[in-house]
Amino acid sequence: MNKVIRVDMSQLTVSVEPVPTRWAGLGGRGLTSTIVAEEVPPGCHPLGPNNKLVFAPGLLSGTPAAQSGRLSAGAKSPLTGTIKESNAGGTAAQQLARLGIKALIVEGLPAGDTWYRLHVTQQGVSIESAAELTGKQNFAVIDKMIDTYGPKIGVMSIGVPGELRMCAANISVKDPDQKIRSHGRGGLGAVMGAKRIKCITIDDAGAGKVPIANPDKFREAAKIFAKSLLDHPVSGEGLPTYGTNILINILNEAGGLPTKNFRYGQCAHHEKICGETMHDTIVARGGKHKHGCHAGCIIQCSQVYVDKAGGYITSGFEYETIWGLGANAMIEDLDDIAICDHLMDDIGIDSIEGAVLLSAAMEAGIIAWGDGKECQRVLREEIGKGTPLGRILGNGTASVGKVYGLVRVPVVKNQGIPAYDPRAVKGIGVTYATSTMGADHTAGYTIATNILKVGGYVDPLKKDGQVDLSRNLQIATAAVDSTGMCVFIAFPALDIPESFTALIDLINAAYDLSLTADDVTELGKNILKLEHDFNIAAGFGPADDRLPEFFSYEAIPPHNAVWDFSDEELDAFWDF
Ligand code: SF4
Repeated sequence: MNKVIRVDMSQLTVSVEPVPTRWAGLGGRGLTSTIVAEEVPPGCHPLGPNNKLVFAPGLLSGTPAAQSGRLSAGAKSPLTGTIKESNAGGTAAQQLARLGIKALIVEGLPAGDTWYRLHVTQQGVSIESAAELTGKQNFAVIDKMIDTYGPKIGVMSIGVPGELRMCAANISVKDPDQKIRSHGRGGLGAVMGAKRIKCITIDDAGAGKVPIANPDKFREAAKIFAKSLLDHPVSGEGLPTYGTNILINILNEAGGLPTKNFRYGQCAHHEKICGETMHDTIVARGGKHKHGCHAGCIIQCSQVYVDKAGGYITSGFEYETIWGLGANAMIEDLDDIAICDHLMDDIGIDSIEGAVLLSAAMEAGIIAWGDGKECQRVLREEIGKGTPLGRILGNGTASVGKVYGLVRVPVVKNQGIPAYDPRAVKGIGVTYATSTMGADHTAGYTIATNILKVGGYVDPLKKDGQVDLSRNLQIATAAVDSTGMCVFIAFPALDIPESFTALIDLINAAYDLSLTADDVTELGKNILKLEHDFNIAAGFGPADDRLPEFFSYEAIPPHNAVWDFSDEELDAFWDF
């Protein structure tokens, strides 16, 4: 990857630059966060002309290494006000990498009301009119672009909530089956909407393979790495069989499955929505219980969920979405949840924020608890069409809480807290509080060690060791997010020594480097620190690294646990 492409939407111009030396060893999150930290004024309005939207494939994206097809998107987030990186599967990362594009940076705002689309090819980037696409949701945009360019075209698009700059809007990425994966968290779809870009298409026809400096070493490391993924019980068995939704019963058993807007840690109808039920339903109906979000994924945690007649409903049906609608919003029918997931893909909102905000809407009395059909109507007719109620909801959980005077509002830095209760799984609470991105389980997934006993064991109900655990995992994750690898490689990397060594060997073989494990740790630390510095310059301080107050006085059954970390204990996270 030897070039950086800048699209200036103020001037409607495109420029191609060589990769600056200081960015050469970076990819994915490391690169998006570095560019945002260098070029975006921390105090700027996220929807204004000074914010930039940056896309960067990971260091290994486009290579044959398993799991390496993730694309990072970065900007200052309109939801959290912090720096933001969100990564997605789909075909875009591999296509950009094959075209040699290390980063695509979109800056400025166009004058006037015209909507545009970007078309990326070997010849460069052209800025085209998107008049025929505005007002359409994502699947219609993808269909139209396939009609125009053929089925191999890569597409990144926003739906109507993105056009209307709602803070829950995501950026959708076409997958190999013409369905959708997402840059979900942090409202990056609103940043794309502010720049009046409806979609970005990528045609990599004529592009060669991504160059690899030492192919023999790369092949050898790739083999060891792939074997470790298949050997580990979580990545080799659990995820391919039940998807991430295997976690419903596990978290329920642990008393950490937030239920009815974080009132309880267990859900009475967990069997109706769990991974085992989902698997059996998919198999009985002739769907796919195993599916990859990009070419080269061998874990295949995704699936294709179909209706009783075998018709497609949704894919990439994740635990966090099913938890949010099934346990937290109390919807008992998995089909209703799947239709909501499809609608969130189509209109283009983050399915975690979407599920948490719908639970808040139930808390506010706008929707009855467990009413899946009304959730579908609200998604389609209110948020999807941008009615006044839809805009209140579509601006996220914190927006609903503010407008309706709620106290139980599960957000950190305005971002909805995902599927693991921080009182019953304390390590993940430290991650929610201290992450540079707002509440984000993937930033430092302590569930691995607190619940799944991967990489050792730290008792989830005790405070001991949680800050160290979260810090170590956040550092490692920041580095992994820079490789283009999916987060689930962490399971073998934590348990099988050859797995982590092989990952480093892959980078070294691809770029003719001699990185060590310490170098990788150093990279992770540097990324976290530069993100943290950006946030401080944007006005954030230690007082923002806290969980909502209700967690400290509402004990969650069955353990009757409360959130009991002191300010000093949380602030110690940054002592490195
Ligand atoms: S394991 Fe799941 S998230 Fe990771 S690359 Fe495969 S389908 Fe995508």
